[in-house]
Amino acid sequence: MTAPAETPHETREVWFLTGSQQLYGDETLRQVADQSQAIAKDLDASGALPVKVVWRPALTSSSAIHAAVLEANAAPGCVGVITWMHTFSPAKMWITALDALRKPMLHLHTQAGVELPWSSIDMDFMNLNQAAHGDREFGFVAARLGVARKVVAGHVSNPAVVARVAAWARAAIGVAELRSLRLTRFGDNMRDVAVTEGDKVEAQLRFGVSVNTYGVNDLVAVVDAIADSEVDSLVAEYLDTYDVAPELRPEGERHESLRYGARIEAGLRAFLTDGGFRAFTTNFQDLGGLRQLPGLAVQRLMADGYGFGGEGDWKTSVLLRTTKAMAQGRPGGTSFMEDYTYHLVPGEEKILGAHMLEVCPSIASRRPSLEIHPLGIGDREDPVRLRFTAAPGPGIVVGISDLGDRFRLTLNEIDVVEPDADLPRLPVACAVWEPRPNLYTSAESWLLAGAPHHTVLSAAVGVEEFRDLAEMVATELVVIDAATTTESLRQELRWSAAYHRLAARL
Ligand code: MN
Repeated sequence: MTAPAETPHETREVWFLTGSQQLYGDETLRQVADQSQAIAKDLDASGALPVKVVWRPALTSSSAIHAAVLEANAAPGCVGVITWMHTFSPAKMWITALDALRKPMLHLHTQAGVELPWSSIDMDFMNLNQAAHGDREFGFVAARLGVARKVVAGHVSNPAVVARVAAWARAAIGVAELRSLRLTRFGDNMRDVAVTEGDKVEAQLRFGVSVNTYGVNDLVAVVDAIADSEVDSLVAEYLDTYDVAPELRPEGERHESLRYGARIEAGLRAFLTDGGFRAFTTNFQDLGGLRQLPGLAVQRLMADGYGFGGEGDWKTSVLLRTTKAMAQGRPGGTSFMEDYTYHLVPGEEKILGAHMLEVCPSIASRRPSLEIHPLGIGDREDPVRLRFTAAPGPGIVVGISDLGDRFRLTLNEIDVVEPDADLPRLPVACAVWEPRPNLYTSAESWLLAGAPHHTVLSAAVGVEEFRDLAEMVATELVVIDAATTTESLRQELRWSAAYHRLAARL
């Protein structure tokens, strides 16, 4: 089922632009057209890309290149362009177009054949198969203009090459999502919390996302108006999908709490759908007429692709929605997460992450249970929630902070692991992970970077997609991985601060 928040990827395209020139004559240009079409087709047929690859006629003049780029800029389905200079394409022809390009670009440095036909190579072959220097000419102009881009070298029959193009395409989908994303906040930030604050005007300029606040009682009015029949069908779905605690089942003494949880879900869904919102936040300090803090509802909306941040944290909500858009169709889940507590036994160090209620069941290792437990925070009735532990495997946690003069993304490669023992008294969903390179270096680096306690945990996308995304939206990315040391990271932060201040527009 395509989740309500998702744009089907079949409607997204990347355009394949091939550079050449008139010098070589019609026969060569016909071969350029055939061979570039074949490469675009191979990329598309690989099945590895989350988008359609659309071949465009080979480009041989400045005006044609400019027109193709303006068309790509304006095409709503086009999330990015791939460029390849099959022959030599004198790159002054590309200046006007590259200066006007507003979509993400990947420079694919490839050629038609894998092997050189040594015994038959003549000058016709050399003229046709000269990406080795045609792409260098193009690379110079792209560097001279400072065009944000990814460069990928290699033949498209190599799965490693296609995987790098696919990561870029996923990042391009993330950018397209950001450019059209609308987020609603129910209430403001948790009082006195610093890291969840941020500049919404800058966020709209930099990323495109529109962030606005509604009074929580605007939501309550929708929740209260939900028909009982809608509640009935959601409850039936819960009974099918989860291990529902006996007290919450239709014959149980707390069934009414489950019905109210379903009512919140239906109301939230209706509010988000009507407003065209694909991300939202809540704040337990501002619940108005809601009788429960939304737990189950938030978990299920996240599973359907919606972005979410607790305590008014709109930046993490934006990041979650963007990550889910990039991850669509990939195995592995993606959730809102919070670093909570540590296991510090030497040699066994791990982080236990959770939240009050709101962890996405897409990361669950098995069928979640649906339960009700007391919650002191929020001063409302006991909320219903899904309980599970996260599936083990490699993943990332990524957070976003507003440093005042810029946004910073911080990403840590992690390995989600099984908890050392059952957690029978923990009333919420959780994830346990070992951060790379180890807990001490990871935590020291994370704190030095000023990275947040709210994150997005994903087993579906990795560091390459985020490197590409950061390049596309000209935003700093700090990576903590197996090679990080605290001191190297401290130096990197210094250089990075200098770079980003110099690179900022005056
Ligand atoms: Mn929190």
